[in-house]
Amino acid sequence: MSKKTILVTGGAGFIGSHLCRALLNLDNKVICLDNLFTGSPENIIDFKSNPNFEFVFHDIIKPFYTEHIDEIYNLACPASPIHYKRNPIKTIKTCTAGVINMLGLAKKHNAKILQASTSEIYGDPEIHPQIENYNGNVNTIGPRSCYDEGKRCSETLFMDYYREHQLKIKIIRIFNTYGPNMAVDDGRVISNFINQAISEKNITINGDGNQTRSFQYVDDLIKAMIKMMNSNRELIGPINIGNPNEVSMNELASIILKLTESNSKINYYKLPEDDPLRRNPDITLAKKQLMWKPIVDLEDGLKKTIGYFRRLNETT
Ligand code: NAD
Ligand code: UDP
Repeated sequence: MSKKTILVTGGAGFIGSHLCRALLNLDNKVICLDNLFTGSPENIIDFKSNPNFEFVFHDIIKPFYTEHIDEIYNLACPASPIHYKRNPIKTIKTCTAGVINMLGLAKKHNAKILQASTSEIYGDPEIHPQIENYNGNVNTIGPRSCYDEGKRCSETLFMDYYREHQLKIKIIRIFNTYGPNMAVDDGRVISNFINQAISEKNITINGDGNQTRSFQYVDDLIKAMIKMMNSNRELIGPINIGNPNEVSMNELASIILKLTESNSKINYYKLPEDDPLRRNPDITLAKKQLMWKPIVDLEDGLKKTIGYFRRLNETT
């Protein structure tokens, strides 16, 4: 079989760089499209000399032209609240104009296209765990809305291209994911707590720390993404991809303090507006339709991530 040519938008970011590596290891040609807003050249340095890899500095809110594409993984979009809130109008443009450009590209090449959607489309959910047919509880006018509503609109666009143009689409709703290649200044909770703990700075917990998230290690997610892309045409999603192991931010802080053997103290700050109180995926569909479930335990994944940030600290 000839090599597939696969476009990964946001490929220099945290998840995108792991996906590029996995797709190259499967002997595909990979084109990584990124505007480096939150991504980093360091994340893709290992395969920059790989003849099957091409990096294109490009913003998806502008159209992209190329000769041949078999598959598109659309990951371009800042994912950390501090980053997507920094330029909210740009975040919405990326999720709407950018997504329309990528759907248009898929249409032109008759390519399959997968959208990296998010658990944020459930907002501050009123049902637990969250199942795919729950429509969510999202504030349309708050500071997180640029991302939540942007990603909801991306899903709508995918479905409309599917209904109007019979595009080969796939939508996955990713729950909180962590691992190596997160930026030190990413601002999300796991990278913050680890970096604070290893540099003996105070741990910054927002609110009373009883809010929960369910964290999945990046390797588990990448396996699910590739399985979803290769699934039969009828399986379009949306489908939850996450680890159902739910922890509070207080529990997470104490696990990270234990694993890093840190003496950091904990400081409590105001909970940001619209910060969801609980988040937990129902992954029945993924188990049944993708024959997938996460296998990396939280402490094992955290140990690998701590090792990564320690190495990064030593080299900078
Ligand atoms: P990230 O910020 O590390 O990566 C996003 C990448 O997209 C970066 O490399 C950034 O430079 C690039 N980008 C942003 N806007 C762009 C634009 N307009 N044009 C081109 N490139 C652009 O974040 P991540 O955690 O790797 O997330 C990747 C995707 O997965 C995002 O779409 C995010 O919404 C989704 N997701 C992530 C999580 C998670 O927990 N990490 C959860 C749910 C969904
Ligand atoms: N959080 C925290 N301290 C931090 C960063 C985040 O307590 O330094 C909290 C945040 O308020 C939220 C949870 O951790 O309740 C997860 O935040 P993150 O930004 O990682 O992801 P999201 O809110 O998008 O799930």
